[in-house]
Amino acid sequence: MRIGYHRRRLADFLGGMRLSRELIRRERWPRGRLRRHQQERLDALVGYAVEHSPFYRERLSGVLGSGPVELSSLPVMDRARMMDHYDELVTDSRLRRDELLAWIERLKRDEFYLGEYRAMTTSGSSGRKGLFVYDEVGWRAIVAMFLRQSAWMGVKPRLPRRFRMALIGGVAPSHMSRQGSATLGVGVHRFLGLPLTLPIDRMVKALNRFRPEFLNAYPSVAMRLAEEQLAGRLRLSLTMMSTSSELRTPEMTERLVEAFGVRPFNLYATTEGLWGVECERHEGIHLFEDTALFENVDAEGKPVPAGEPGARLLVSFLHNLVQPIIRLELADSVTIESEPCACGRTLVRARAIEGRSDDVLRLPARGGGEVAVHPTEFGIMTRDREVREFQVLQEGPRLRILVVPRPAASGELAARLRDAASRRLAELGVEEPRVAVERRDGLARSAGGKLQLVVADPAARQAHVDLQ
Ligand SMILES: [Zn+2]
Repeated sequence: MRIGYHRRRLADFLGGMRLSRELIRRERWPRGRLRRHQQERLDALVGYAVEHSPFYRERLSGVLGSGPVELSSLPVMDRARMMDHYDELVTDSRLRRDELLAWIERLKRDEFYLGEYRAMTTSGSSGRKGLFVYDEVGWRAIVAMFLRQSAWMGVKPRLPRRFRMALIGGVAPSHMSRQGSATLGVGVHRFLGLPLTLPIDRMVKALNRFRPEFLNAYPSVAMRLAEEQLAGRLRLSLTMMSTSSELRTPEMTERLVEAFGVRPFNLYATTEGLWGVECERHEGIHLFEDTALFENVDAEGKPVPAGEPGARLLVSFLHNLVQPIIRLELADSVTIESEPCACGRTLVRARAIEGRSDDVLRLPARGGGEVAVHPTEFGIMTRDREVREFQVLQEGPRLRILVVPRPAASGELAARLRDAASRRLAELGVEEPRVAVERRDGLARSAGGKLQLVVADPAARQAHVDLQ
């Protein structure tokens, strides 16, 4: 029996539930009121960090004035620095990076570190592993944001016939989504969590047996399930679905609507603490800026105005005191909408989380210079019914498109895709597009199971220059 564990899990759920009601009230606050709230929370966070974290004390004491904290005057932190200084950064001296990482590595089931903390890692597309520890208040804010996302999509706790949710996500117990399901599985909803590495026939069998009303999956997994649904092997009747973590092109959305008869919501959730979701209008992701501050900046770290794409985000999470996150860099490229949403919520919207892990390609342009080719342009690949999934790899000025065909795909598929991609690239102004299409049985995924649709060649610019 793990009485302490179960009691804490239930308390986290109830605490998250209470906070989620408060969050929903904040969504329509005038911007001025929201800004005052953000400032209060930021002042409290920075004050606590300076008092209890040797790392922040040293970094911030020189730049802080006596009045309210001015976020833009604080130093920016990247993941490597956070990991290098982890032991001095946290505000509980019992937390040690290497011990935590070793503990997470050994984790076989859902557990609290030292009986009180939620500890998780994120592989990240940029290489270095990130370690995040949440205290009780911080974790309840995460639970509250999950419940807020669900509420926006129309999922409300329901009795006696409980709502049935299937989440297909990370494999490891240390993944945030797995720990989230563990907290939420206390009895209000019925949950089925499946690892995305499960073979498709077993996934179909488990889903048919569970009969979820709601399904969340990465777009590439959802697309595979759409194929099973259209073939009649998967028999789900969903009232809503959502996708997260990977790029979803408009062509993919169309296919999901065709297969499941519902318009999928786009979710955004990071282990760093910045979350968001589309509202019922599906016109961009509202970011939960009442729980986490974000700054949209360009490659040099300068603020980017609404309407223009940024290169990365700086995140400050307002609820977690054990590991204060203040201006932590996140490699997500976002364009913020300048107009308020017609739904009436005042939280700003990201037009799309672009290039979350996918890259914008820079290819030689007709008449000189470069053309930026956005990953969504390759959505045309999935318009072809014989394509199961694909990945674009840039090698200098040349593109290799790896394609996993459906079983009955014809021999002309590769030539057809090559022509379609070349045509699109030419329309975009690319000079003499060079495209090769190769058939594959499967595609390589990241450690976290994500499929990166478009992978740029870091040496592409140089290669392009050398070839001339
Ligand atoms: Zn809206």
